Amino acid sequence: MTRSGLTDTIAAIATAPGSAGVGIVRVSGPEALTVADGIFSGRRTPSRIRGGRFVFGQLIAADGEVLDEGLCLVFRRPHSYTGEDVAELQTHGSPAVLGRVLSRVLELGARLARPGEFTLRAYLSGRLDLAQAEAVLGLVEAQTDAARRQASLGLSGALGTRVARIGANITRTLAAVQAMLDYPEEGVPEEDRELPLQAAEQDLSELVQSARAGQVATRGARLALIGRPNVGKSSLLNALLGYERSIVTPIPGTTRDYLEAGVELAGVPVTLVDTAGIRHTTDQVEAAGVRQAVALAGAADLVLALEDGQQPREPLPTELPEGARVIRVQTKADLEPAWNDPGALRVSAVTGEGLPELREAIHAALLGDAARSEAWLTTERQADAARRALGHVQAARTLPDDLASWELEEALRALSDLTGRDVQEDVVDAVFRNFCVGK
Ligand code: GDP
Ligand code: ZN
Repeated sequence: MTRSGLTDTIAAIATAPGSAGVGIVRVSGPEALTVADGIFSGRRTPSRIRGGRFVFGQLIAADGEVLDEGLCLVFRRPHSYTGEDVAELQTHGSPAVLGRVLSRVLELGARLARPGEFTLRAYLSGRLDLAQAEAVLGLVEAQTDAARRQASLGLSGALGTRVARIGANITRTLAAVQAMLDYPEEGVPEEDRELPLQAAEQDLSELVQSARAGQVATRGARLALIGRPNVGKSSLLNALLGYERSIVTPIPGTTRDYLEAGVELAGVPVTLVDTAGIRHTTDQVEAAGVRQAVALAGAADLVLALEDGQQPREPLPTELPEGARVIRVQTKADLEPAWNDPGALRVSAVTGEGLPELREAIHAALLGDAARSEAWLTTERQADAARRALGHVQAARTLPDDLASWELEEALRALSDLTGRDVQEDVVDAVFRNFCVGK
């Protein structure tokens, strides 16, 4: 949509469908207050209500019928969510009342808003950057506390600030590189070329890593339980779930297929996958199960590698995917341990011993430092932009100046995709003001 498409006034029911104590019809655009004048009758007409104030009154149909009583709240541009004039009509939250109020507002000249259009207008008016607009969506959709937390962080604009800092560092290097190309005899101190780029690379790779945590918090994580038959995978899965889901049996090799169950662990929706015991086997059916388990472990965000605490220790299966994140668990902690390893968490599915520590370790592994970080990437679009920027920065560090300069420009372009803001121009200006060649 273009800015010229924003001359009209839009309206929509802002509250959830169904009955509720209060419902809101929101109107935004140049005619918002005039439209509200046509339906609302109170001590003041909406166009005479001061910004940020409300008036109690009645909502009136075209034929003069009183639809409901309620409040009219007025926000005046640019001090509103959309940056435009906004009237919010608060009524009782029944679908019947809200439907009548909305159709009257449309009769009076507003157009039905498209999905996300209020937030789109906030972005176009410069009130939100693209990542913040995505955060609004995340807040509306948040199903878990972790998702809510990171969406509200996104809305705070912390990501925009961080991206601007990265952009400023890349630009400093770009300026240095261009200065070297233009005035090779001058020479540019290494710290002007190398240090800002190092900082940008560091910052970007942290952001790229946060994308994994951000997406885990939003869409949830897959967690695979692996281990030899009879180590206690099904029992631990049940203990984490808190009820019987998979069949626990003392006969080795029973879980040939895998079994999934959803649970919320420390604010993150987690799918637990109980895999067939991983071991070298000649049994055809079990072999298929083992291959599947290895593949599952590879697709998982986190692997719980279980070893029987009671049996003499055998080496873990070597098939564990390279780079997989693993928590080692020593099972059956209620019994006398046959071995000791401080690198493994001792857990009992029977007594629950060690379960809180295990949940804590799962949470830390899934969200890690990102849980404390002030800005995360939460959408694949953002992650893609950050990865592209990182790739260009890394390339620039190894290339001669003329090629590096191109890579840095590409990195800046990828960054401005990230927040949808043109970091290039304003940051370039700011940096060149401080950066003088041949002084
Ligand atoms: P899986 O084959 O890895 O899924 O193992 P199961 O969960 O089916 O457990 C195998 C056997 O170990 C069963 O007899 C369980 O009762 C027993 N078991 C599992 N976890 C524990 C535990 O924490 N403590 C004790 N004492 N026995 C356990
Ligand atoms: Zn099992």
